[in-house]
Amino acid sequence: MGATLEIRNLHVSIDETPILRGVDLTINQGETHALMGPNGSGKSTLAYAMLGHPAYSVDEGEVLFDGVDVLELEPDERSRLGLFLAFQYPVSVPGVTVANFLRSAINSRRKQENAEDPGISIPEFRRLMKERMDFLDIDHSFAGRYLNAGFSGGEKKRNEILQLAVLQPRFAILDETDSGLDIDALRIVADGVNKLKGPELGVLVITHYKRMLDYLNPEYVHLMMDGRIVESGGAALAEEIEDYGYQPFFEKHGLEVTEE
Ligand code: ADP
Ligand code: MG
Repeated sequence: MGATLEIRNLHVSIDETPILRGVDLTINQGETHALMGPNGSGKSTLAYAMLGHPAYSVDEGEVLFDGVDVLELEPDERSRLGLFLAFQYPVSVPGVTVANFLRSAINSRRKQENAEDPGISIPEFRRLMKERMDFLDIDHSFAGRYLNAGFSGGEKKRNEILQLAVLQPRFAILDETDSGLDIDALRIVADGVNKLKGPELGVLVITHYKRMLDYLNPEYVHLMMDGRIVESGGAALAEEIEDYGYQPFFEKHGLEVTEE
């Protein structure tokens, strides 16, 4: 049996303003879920709360990783359990390359498991990187780029997907970039997730772009509006969102339209 990530009745506020108002969502290892929803519906808030960002206060509810409440854990403990939150990594780290970062991430995890571990050898690390970059069709020069320094939206996403491929978490939550509509970034995420998905990985891809559904073909689709998941389904819900957009769902759920 694979692991389960279970979000139960999660209420989150920012500066005392309630944003998430009772989110329930269960993801099993091996499943791909898309969380859709208009701008401002609370999607990123869910991701930040999972990450333990101090500005996001959890007022109620829990997030269980195989029965352990991850909201009680430090971010590094969350990642040790196998929970990958793309943006728990620093926004910009001068002087650290993509490869340096990944190697130290692998080594710190190994050291946590066994203090005597000498870390991954350079040849072994090179082999791993080459194999993973070839698999994902990432140019080898990417490994030498300085982490996030002037990364485009697409490069940020490429970096996340490479981290996923190298660190091999059990669950990954990938939020869209805040850099606006970027088809390149959408494709990188969708193609990467399509290549990496399998029985060992549970993924939640967060986006408000309906087009993501074209590329990703998730088995499960959830629609967030006004701080709650108002609909969950599969291909049929994806088609409905693709064909008609969010507008009919605002009406259906008695909400004020905030976006076409
Ligand atoms: P989404 O990712 O779905 O576009 P967000 O989770 O970013 O939505 O935002 C949900 C709501 O929370 C919005 O109304 C937004 O204005 C508000 N919000 C987000 N971040 C902050 C913040 N740092 N301070 C105050 N309000 C915020
Ligand atoms: Mg967002």
